[in-house]
Amino acid sequence: MQTWLPADFMQTPEGKEADAILRSCVHCGFCNAACPTYTLLGNELDGPRGRIYQIKGMLEGQAVTRQTQSHLDRCLTCRACETACPSGVQYAKLVDIGRSELEKRVPRSIPQRLIRSALCWLIPSTGRFRLMLKLARIVRPLMPSTLKRYIPASKPTGIWPQARHSRRMLILAGCVQPVLEPGIDSTLARLLDRHGISAIPVHSGCCGAVSHHLTATEQTRTHIKITIDTLWPYIENGIEAIIMTASGCGAMLQEYSHLLHEDPEHSMKAAKLTALCRDPVQIVENLPIDSEDNGLRVAFQAPCSLVNALKLEGRVEAVLKRAGYQLLPVNESALCCGSAGTYSILQPKLATELRERKLRNLQVPQPEIIATANIGCLTHLNITSKVPVVHWLSLLEIN
Ligand code: SF4
Ligand code: SF4
Repeated sequence: MQTWLPADFMQTPEGKEADAILRSCVHCGFCNAACPTYTLLGNELDGPRGRIYQIKGMLEGQAVTRQTQSHLDRCLTCRACETACPSGVQYAKLVDIGRSELEKRVPRSIPQRLIRSALCWLIPSTGRFRLMLKLARIVRPLMPSTLKRYIPASKPTGIWPQARHSRRMLILAGCVQPVLEPGIDSTLARLLDRHGISAIPVHSGCCGAVSHHLTATEQTRTHIKITIDTLWPYIENGIEAIIMTASGCGAMLQEYSHLLHEDPEHSMKAAKLTALCRDPVQIVENLPIDSEDNGLRVAFQAPCSLVNALKLEGRVEAVLKRAGYQLLPVNESALCCGSAGTYSILQPKLATELRERKLRNLQVPQPEIIATANIGCLTHLNITSKVPVVHWLSLLEIN
């Protein structure tokens, strides 16, 4: 499409990038069919093409309001529109630029500012989040059952094997996963250990995804730089790979270099870091995990971060089949479950509708277990799922 962005904005990296992305869109609308919010709301302004037009209008100088902000807020950044787009439009990069520009032009209400600041303060801090969950668990028995289900039970950490192999990989812990599901990383560490690889745990805090979801740009850069600085000595020492068991964090790490373009030193380090990043499936699929059919019926919920950002569609399912599980077909498998970082807190109505629709689709083929690859999806689905939802790595524990 043609663009008329102001000359001064076109001199900036964001202006150049936005212009190139806008020009690649041929406004065909194929993306709308893949969009969860367009599917639920049926409003062009709540679909990718409509959002692209709203961002274009804003960047060209048209007036924007809180209504514009709410259309962009409702976007899950699931990137299903990117996967569906025949022209390769990089929607996620454009919406990042649009959101950050909108934050400058449309001040948020005080309650919105308070809740967003509280989320930025609480969630990326493992210590604060752990304390909050501990307190919530104490008062849980007094809560009505509708609220109780939002407080997950405490889970075991699992044994982490001693490093004894020459092949070594890092497992990056992230922020909320060590509190909500501390056993996922140690499950992978034991699996790798059985196959001659030692896993080293690294706790560098949040990867930056939470603040990035909240358009808190400076805080995002701080988290990214802390992660890079923590990992850099391992990279210099020739670590083989850096693994994140949450696909949402893995997707965030892919964006590091781009998000730090104003800091050439960290951006260069970020590019080296990203080249070493692996989703666990990229390691596990090369291991001899084959096993006889165990008859267990599994429905896999493929997170948007795994499919649309990391482009690893079908890989976990293939590994689970090799490990002896019966993988069931899932209708609307590309539709987001509604978790999407802090989306389930900030957009509870849409997030609940998407979760219930996802669970209906997952439960139709009558699985005994639902597996997924991202802590956000796992926690969100488990709130109301009748079937246990687990990380797929835990299904390899017996192999
Ligand atoms: S983003 Fe892609 S699919 Fe959507 S309208 Fe533009 S060109 Fe078409
Ligand atoms: S990222 Fe997801 S929710 Fe946002 S416009 Fe694209 S498909 Fe729709």
